[in-house]
Amino acid sequence: MITTRTTCPYCGVGCGVLATPQPDGTVQIAGDPDHPANFGRLCSKGSALGETLSLDGRLLHPEINDERASWDDALDLVATRFRAAIAEHGPQSVAIYGSGQLLTEDYYVANKLMKGFVGAANIDTNSRLCMASSVAGHKRAFGSDTVPGNYEDLEQADLIVLVGSNLGWCHPVLYQRIVAARAARPELKVVLIDPRRTVSADIAELHLPVAPDGDSALFVGLLAHLEQQGITDSDYVSAYTSGYEAALLTAEDWDIARVAEATGLSPLSISRFYDLFARTKKVVTVYSQGVNQSAAGSDKVNAIINCHLATGRIGKPGMGPFSVTGQPNAMGGREVGGLANMLAAHMDFTPEAIDRVSRFWGSDSVAQGPGLKAVDLFAAMARGEIKAVWIMATNPVDSMPEADVVRDALKACPFVVVSDMNRHTDTMELAHVRLPAAGWGEKDGTVTNSERRISRQRPFLPLPGEARPDWWIIKEVAKRLGHGAAFSYFSPGQIFAEHVALSGFENDGSRDFDLSGLSGADYETMTPVQWPVRSRPTARMFGDGKFFTPDGKARFLPVQPPPPFAPAPGQFILNTGRVRDHWHTMTRTGKASRLSAHMAEPFVEVHPADANALGIRRANLVRLTNRHGSALVRALVTDRQQRGQLFVPMHWTDQFANNGRVDTLVTGKVDPVSAQPALKMAQVMAEPVGVRLYGFLVAARKPALATDYWAMAPAPHGYRAEIALFEEPADWTDFLADTFGTDAVFQSIRDERSGRRAFVLVENGRLLAALYTSPDPVLVSRQWAVDLLSETDLTASIVLAGRPGADRPDGGAIVCSCMGVGINTIIEAVTRHGCTSVEAVGALTRAGTNCGSCRAEIRGIVDANRLVAAE
Ligand code: SF4
Repeated sequence: MITTRTTCPYCGVGCGVLATPQPDGTVQIAGDPDHPANFGRLCSKGSALGETLSLDGRLLHPEINDERASWDDALDLVATRFRAAIAEHGPQSVAIYGSGQLLTEDYYVANKLMKGFVGAANIDTNSRLCMASSVAGHKRAFGSDTVPGNYEDLEQADLIVLVGSNLGWCHPVLYQRIVAARAARPELKVVLIDPRRTVSADIAELHLPVAPDGDSALFVGLLAHLEQQGITDSDYVSAYTSGYEAALLTAEDWDIARVAEATGLSPLSISRFYDLFARTKKVVTVYSQGVNQSAAGSDKVNAIINCHLATGRIGKPGMGPFSVTGQPNAMGGREVGGLANMLAAHMDFTPEAIDRVSRFWGSDSVAQGPGLKAVDLFAAMARGEIKAVWIMATNPVDSMPEADVVRDALKACPFVVVSDMNRHTDTMELAHVRLPAAGWGEKDGTVTNSERRISRQRPFLPLPGEARPDWWIIKEVAKRLGHGAAFSYFSPGQIFAEHVALSGFENDGSRDFDLSGLSGADYETMTPVQWPVRSRPTARMFGDGKFFTPDGKARFLPVQPPPPFAPAPGQFILNTGRVRDHWHTMTRTGKASRLSAHMAEPFVEVHPADANALGIRRANLVRLTNRHGSALVRALVTDRQQRGQLFVPMHWTDQFANNGRVDTLVTGKVDPVSAQPALKMAQVMAEPVGVRLYGFLVAARKPALATDYWAMAPAPHGYRAEIALFEEPADWTDFLADTFGTDAVFQSIRDERSGRRAFVLVENGRLLAALYTSPDPVLVSRQWAVDLLSETDLTASIVLAGRPGADRPDGGAIVCSCMGVGINTIIEAVTRHGCTSVEAVGALTRAGTNCGSCRAEIRGIVDANRLVAAE
């Protein structure tokens, strides 16, 4: 069996993966012990990659208007329609919307086609939703989009400040590196700045539940505090920076009392943070979407960078501001220029750069200025200004703010091309032309992670059906548009070599992005490497105090914090984000039953006092509404959430739930500098939904769900779904037949007093379908019911009972998805077996012993139940 060294396709940690196809067609996945990002670790998502590789739901051949088509016909049509739009309406009438899922080589070719030969810069990407504010902040401060540090800095720091970053769930392997570093060096402290008490608070000495967008004031106040305390490094500031006085002038009024007012934090907790930051030399400030996805995101980034510049804590071991990216190749996209405001290879639209790139690409039609950024792009489409769009490897119908407006814009667009690996996404449904793209395991190219480390993604599976790599599809269209000579690529290695050459072209060290020390000949065997690579790779940037601004000095930026955000009376602030085991719009993680076991439906986190005031009880269905849209989600009542605020994950789409697309509720308001949408700051009303019957079902075959609420997930040997009905079905026999697609007679029971029912279909000892309904949220053990689908000697009475018998222990809701350990098993380990630590629970049950992403949850269960056991 051959093992292939490749890279995880999910988050920006960029873990190395060893993939070994097995004789039975499965693929064994392991962490690459030699990859410097993860040293063998993988999180729950990475560990389950082998379970996402089935061809179920794949797009395996091109389609035109829902009909199968040949590649030639599809490519000809794409070229014809793009050419016609350009001829009739000009190059600004066409666009590409790409993705941080694209490999660098794919990105490079797409960017070159649009900016170099179509002559418009209308190529933007879902990375605009992820880290555009960090790009803008970096460029304003450093003169370049450069991440100064690396992952080792997190292990070498004495203080890590996590701002707007639930690293424990969103970058789990990086989080585990910090956990391990803290175990080895207890002096390493962590401060978490986040409106929610996320699982990342588990390792934090101090959690600051800052008001939404209050982090700006917190860091502006920190700058003033550092100056007042004489902590700033005046030698560094005068030698290597400019603009300090202006930044300080803006900050000096921000004393602790004012910061407390703006952040909602106590003066004591602010002082503790400021003192910790002031007296600790080795500080790394890690930030991600909580900072970036804001209408003040770029300023927040600069407020953070200001504090590091003022203390000279940048570019040295264990020090620096550190933006961690959401996607596997958001950085690669930035490197090729895959954002509408960049040209190529970290060059902007300056006359010199346009001239340089024109000569390099051999084109006299290079775009002369920035194109439409994501929100503006879809707004232009809604106005009818975009006549043809090509969406690559992303799902804007779900991930863009005002998602229903985006859906309508795409419906109205005269020509929509979508290239993707999946046939069924909410965006793919709207395509006139569908192009089957290669997926992870089939792709061949490079990605760059959050620490500027370029790694190879290598194929270990053949291309299925007629799927093709993205770079091939793009170059075939380019050829048909008459640019064959400039797009005569035959391999990703050849494209990478051109990318390397452009990065070094007329680059005398004045541009940060330079790969010219890499040899194209090494492409196949390339090991992970941090750019810039001139004579050798660069682990850290700016240690020499040289920046990429015209005067070579880093720039302070005066930051004026935004006024505190107060929602309208009766409204809540809606924060959106991620869960531990799902990725983006679930096109891959939604295939793995064990990744759906942790969180199987969309939910809203709501504070107990708010829930009480609204009449929302645990597990009730809640409707969220505003003028943009609505969503139906399950109430998760928790004091992790602050009063007046709600949290809903962004993963659920129409493919997995009937009304769970939370980005329908998010306004299209953007940061004025970066154009990144404020995805964490919607305003919504919340109300309990009048449900007549709640239901939970399992089925061996995919059910046809048409209930008022439903959310479906895969299960081993079948499916599971939560449903709700606003009216009782007029005829249960018809309802069961329609839902489960069978006329077979179900066995059923009904408890008259509680109104609970169960309907069960068992044939030859196997469970084909079971439905449990109740006027209240259904109490049936989900894991028990799901496990029944795998059994072979069942009787209907066992299933109708709705709970496990004494001979079938109920592990409860899954906490550790790697080892399949449920909450009841962990509680029992504490209360019956006397386990008093995560380690002891792990030794007994194996929970938390693989990726570790669940260890914070296990600790919470241990703590809660130790007290119960002691009482
Ligand atoms: S932390 Fe998890 S999701 Fe992120 S790259 Fe590593 S294995 Fe993949």
